[in-house]
Amino acid sequence: MLERGDYVPREKENWSSQAVNLEARYNTKEVWRDKKGALLHPHTNYFVGGNTKFYGAALFRLRKEDFGELKHHGGISPAWPISYEGLEPYYTRAEALYQVHGERGVDPTEPPASAPYPHPPVSHEPRIEQLHEDFKGWGLSPFHTPLGVMLDEHEPRKSLCIRCNTCDGFPCLVQAKADAQVCAVDPALGHWNVELATRSYVSRLETSPSGREVTGVVVERGDRIERYTADIVVVAAGAINSAALLLRSANERHPKGLANRSDVVGRHYMGHTNSVQIALSLCPNPTVFQKTLSVNDFYFGTNEWTYPMGHISFVGKLDLHALRAGAPAMAPGWTLEMMAKHSLDFWLTSEDLPDPDNRVTLDRDGGIVLSYTPNNLEGHERLQAKLRQLMKRQKCAAHGSECHKGIFARNFFVGDRIPLAGVAHQNGTVRFGHDPATSALDPNCKAHDLDNLYVVDASFFPSSAAVNPALTVMANALRIGDHLRERLGPHPLPRNSG
Ligand SMILES: Cc1cc2nc3c(=O)[nH]c(=O)nc-3n(C[C@H](O)[C@H](O)[C@H](O)COP(=O)(O)OP(=O)(O)OC[C@H]3O[C@@H](n4cnc5c(N)ncnc54)[C@H](O)[C@@H]3O)c2cc1C
Ligand code: SF4
Repeated sequence: MLERGDYVPREKENWSSQAVNLEARYNTKEVWRDKKGALLHPHTNYFVGGNTKFYGAALFRLRKEDFGELKHHGGISPAWPISYEGLEPYYTRAEALYQVHGERGVDPTEPPASAPYPHPPVSHEPRIEQLHEDFKGWGLSPFHTPLGVMLDEHEPRKSLCIRCNTCDGFPCLVQAKADAQVCAVDPALGHWNVELATRSYVSRLETSPSGREVTGVVVERGDRIERYTADIVVVAAGAINSAALLLRSANERHPKGLANRSDVVGRHYMGHTNSVQIALSLCPNPTVFQKTLSVNDFYFGTNEWTYPMGHISFVGKLDLHALRAGAPAMAPGWTLEMMAKHSLDFWLTSEDLPDPDNRVTLDRDGGIVLSYTPNNLEGHERLQAKLRQLMKRQKCAAHGSECHKGIFARNFFVGDRIPLAGVAHQNGTVRFGHDPATSALDPNCKAHDLDNLYVVDASFFPSSAAVNPALTVMANALRIGDHLRERLGPHPLPRNSG
């Protein structure tokens, strides 16, 4: 494994909102550009375990319908070349590997599953429980967000996770978040034939004269340039960097970039339409771990509006520093500090559609250019309106219907105000499919144009759905792992095994 970053240092700042939210301590300092040439400070992280070191660990399966073609208000969400049933066993394995805590049978859009969640759902704290009951009373089916945290609520003394307020967006100081370093990379390093080189930036892939095989992986490691070879090369640098690497590796045989006969590499960038909606009430919200409740009743639309709208859930509880980093419109008479103490902080996700002009390209110096024009926004606006309607119905024993003071949007993009910088859910830039004319990868995520190159991260998505992407990336990686094991044949014996 070649990783450009290092391990996240274990230090007190891991859990400092000021360091993480205001000072962007762990974000890359790399600078990209948008389509107009303006500087873009991407909210992304280069460490062992990738962005899962910082994720909120909401681990959702895509809906079964997301694998088929879906008609949205803004256009068509295309079908995947594999079915939900084909990925289901790997979703089950991924849920076990990443210790997902959840409850089946409540989410109305939930796809069929061959096993229960491996761990019970994470309980709601009182303010969220009250909202859960209110939502139920209004005819919705709220459910516990499936979460990859190593929390044992029955034996708190033995629980690795302490259920803290610095999870979503923060690295876990006590290694209790089920991230890719803790659950996948570190255990893999226990095998005799796995090695990890950190601070190893892959700058280019070289091919044989025929262009059919990758024959060299060029790595910048400190001041040195190193070259690696392998029978099979798997790229998993994240959707933006994987596309950039393939484009950067253009050669005589692959003039538009590696694996890019179809000209789709870098195109169809998706990242979800997300917004943080802060609902203010006179009653305080003392919740510590807020990300436990989700609502999918509007995911595919309603009787009045039959197009998909998306998914409602929560971000981690916002505090003063987090609010400062993306200051919302202020409620009259409220300070940011008061808002932080009284807010319910919703996270709304809607599907953006794969537009070929939303794409990753390179500038003259090889730097990343991310061109994006938002699309399919009507569904998201309707989802926001639904939430506003719901919250207006809130009444409490102390303040009645006066308790709710309105909803305020927060610009969640940390560190700067460029919305495009929020690339947390990046996907789609090296799409898979049956047809080499319209996709870069085959259904096994092997490049159509090369015999030994695979891309196995969020790049392969032909559509983004409207739930968080990581579990699908994990499940697909397990699927391709099985394929590669079959392709490589019987396992070689360990060195020195006699
Ligand atoms: C704050 C935050 C919260 C999130 N919350 C959730 C959530 O709750 N649920 C969810 O499902 N998803 C969430 N996500 C998204 C989730 O983290 C990503 O979908 C997931 O990590 C994507 O995996 P990936 O393998 O495609 O890329 P990454 O995780 O980005 O991994 C790519 C790796 O490649 C390395 N790399 C990049 N370029 C090179 C190169 N040239 N050479 C060598 N190494 C390279 C990077 O350093 C990194 O380690 C969140 C993301 C963020 C940032
Ligand atoms: S202790 Fe638990 S809640 Fe806190 S960061 Fe770690 S996994 Fe998240």
